[in-house]
Amino acid sequence: MGAMAIPRYNEIHARFEHGQKVGWVLEISLFIIALGLLPFIQWNKLPQDWISATVVTLLVPMQFLPSLICVIATKKKEIDQLSETARYGVFDKHNLRQLVDGVLKELQIPKRKVRVYITNDKQLNAFAVSFGLSRFLPFMRGVYLHRKTLHVMTPQELKSWIGHELGHLFPYALRLDQAALLQIIAGAVLSLFVYQQVAVWGGFGVMIAVGVAWLFLYVTSLPRAKLSQVCEYLCDEYGARVSGIEVAITDLLKTGSATEAEHEVLMYVTQAINNGEIPNPDSAYTIYEQALGFEIEDAEQIKKRVATAIKDYKAERPNLSVRGLMDFFWSDAATDSDATEKREAMLRVYDLLKEVPRLDWKKTCGWDGHSTLTPMQIDRIVGKLENNPDLVLFRIPEEFQVGEAKSHPGFKKRILYLWINRLDIERAPLPRI
Ligand SMILES: [Zn+2]
Repeated sequence: MGAMAIPRYNEIHARFEHGQKVGWVLEISLFIIALGLLPFIQWNKLPQDWISATVVTLLVPMQFLPSLICVIATKKKEIDQLSETARYGVFDKHNLRQLVDGVLKELQIPKRKVRVYITNDKQLNAFAVSFGLSRFLPFMRGVYLHRKTLHVMTPQELKSWIGHELGHLFPYALRLDQAALLQIIAGAVLSLFVYQQVAVWGGFGVMIAVGVAWLFLYVTSLPRAKLSQVCEYLCDEYGARVSGIEVAITDLLKTGSATEAEHEVLMYVTQAINNGEIPNPDSAYTIYEQALGFEIEDAEQIKKRVATAIKDYKAERPNLSVRGLMDFFWSDAATDSDATEKREAMLRVYDLLKEVPRLDWKKTCGWDGHSTLTPMQIDRIVGKLENNPDLVLFRIPEEFQVGEAKSHPGFKKRILYLWINRLDIERAPLPRI
């Protein structure tokens, strides 16, 4: 992958400031579109042609629906609603509450402004949701922690995760995300307005309206795409403000290793589907889900369980979660040859990845498997990576910044960013909420 430039602190902060200004201009424009075009909508014409008009009007709003459904359908529990007996690694309801409150206090975020949920996911991850309604409905704002994350992280590391997600909701929330409702309304009004102007042309008119809606979505998504990587660096910084840089880096390394193991198992299951060992691809998700545990494990251990699960699998109706269905690339097309091709492409990438030289970070620094890495240990890892730019840290596609993975910088870049810029990060004043 060659030498990679790690952005500097000042560059990332300047890019964010600039992006927010662009977002502000766009927000004002959306407001003007929504309000300015409203008087020109011919309401009296709507009843004659309501089907096409409705379809065209919903084109933009519909784009936001899948992610909305995903979040609503995700099985989750707010921390205060957890049962008294629930245990997740070293955490229970009470010490989780304490930990979250501690992070909020340290970052000077009012407690009533955010809810923290636990989801039942077995992937190491967390996410933040604000839905663009946050100015009107602050209770819609939430941090979602996957259950596995609690099992795997130490309290100090979990602080870094929570801090990161709070970064997405508060100091580094994108203007345009917060204005998503405005974006939806402006998109709907604009599409309907254009449609009414060209409706006389029949099918061709509909096509023009569809084109305008598509262009609207494209243009309004640009600022977000430009800032998404920047935001990840900034949110990593924010989390590190609570946990300390060394903890944040230990956390990223652990997460990268777990992601690599998950990917390996996923590829194993994918191979099994393409080999015809799993007759019904829909059931693959169930098998994969059941074989994954909440604790960190060797990929080999999990693969053994997957192999047993495949043998024992009886063609029952798979019990899929909505989120699982939407997440999983093979869930939508059980017999589709597209899905097979997609899986084959993924396997080819996986084969290439296996050839890429990788730094064994655990060995390099002599990690004991549980403590926070010391500055000296991190120096050893970072030194090796800087001297050997071709080395990767994890054999996962995300590290190569292709396709959809572009929204996140790879783990290697995130780790190097934190370490190279640590003095600036530690010296900076806390962002105001
Ligand atoms: Zn993030």
